[in-house]
Amino acid sequence: MNSRYPTAAQRAGHRCEYCRAPEAIFNFPFEVEHIVPTGRGGADDVSNWALSCRACNLHKGARLVAADPQTGAVVSLFNPREQRWEDHFRCDPNTAELVGITRIGRATVACLQMNRPAQSEARRQWVQLRIYPTL
Ligand SMILES: [Zn+2]
Repeated sequence: MNSRYPTAAQRAGHRCEYCRAPEAIFNFPFEVEHIVPTGRGGADDVSNWALSCRACNLHKGARLVAADPQTGAVVSLFNPREQRWEDHFRCDPNTAELVGITRIGRATVACLQMNRPAQSEARRQWVQLRIYPTL
């Protein structure tokens, strides 16, 4: 197991820090990603680690910025060490889709493809099972 995992997972409450997927229902531990890739100057310590589901980590890759689909502005992606999830995202309780409520939130939802059909369907089931918080 990744030596960073216990610290990152506990701090994240065993949820993806981007889409809030609940790790408990997956059959493999989530990944510890570097918010700022080490190859781009990011530190390899707790201040730069985030627990991420495979889907979010795959789509984020080494990206640090993305376009807000509403305004076209290129903005930083959500940083779970510096920002609060609730300030940038909501989960629509009817559709279980994630809604960005800021430029950063919208850019992150789009870049990490958080509302792909498989993601949204899984989230709908998590909401029904009451293992996914809707705000
Ligand atoms: Zn995720």
